Amino acid sequence: MSAAMSQNPQNQGIDLALPLDAVAELIIDADLDDERLWVPRGENIATFPLWFSVSQGMWVSITRASGNGIISRHRHSAPVTGFTLDGSWGYLEHEWTATKGTFIFEPPGETHTLVVRPDLGHMMVLFHNFGPIISVDDKGNTLGFVDVFSRLEACKEHYEKVGIGADYARGLIR
Ligand code: FE
Repeated sequence: MSAAMSQNPQNQGIDLALPLDAVAELIIDADLDDERLWVPRGENIATFPLWFSVSQGMWVSITRASGNGIISRHRHSAPVTGFTLDGSWGYLEHEWTATKGTFIFEPPGETHTLVVRPDLGHMMVLFHNFGPIISVDDKGNTLGFVDVFSRLEACKEHYEKVGIGADYARGLIR
């Protein structure tokens, strides 16, 4: 550190240790070009996990999809936020179209049908699911659920299969 910097505290980080019971920070330099890291979730849809919170039941991941079909129809019992990294997408229940830079918040209780909008034909969105997703049919009847544990297991299984190993997914747990 230069003498000038040490004389100017505004240029220094604060010297405070993490509290004893804090969990470790998590830094991911996501290599989105490494296809092995994308976990398939059906035809033309894949997820790139970034964080699994097994104590709060939530997870953060990037969802990538393309094509014309319905990606997923489901109910959120906890909030979800999404930030669009690329492409064009929306929900059949809402008129808006999200494009690069669009941020969305959907409240608990929201049921929607995720689709890729045809103008660009693909989407890539950073989603923060604050709780389980309940998959439903077109009448709203429950078909199943996705939660942080089922996502984690699916990712572990995939990473084992492609040779990265399940520990990669376990390393995203905080
Ligand atoms: Fe959703």
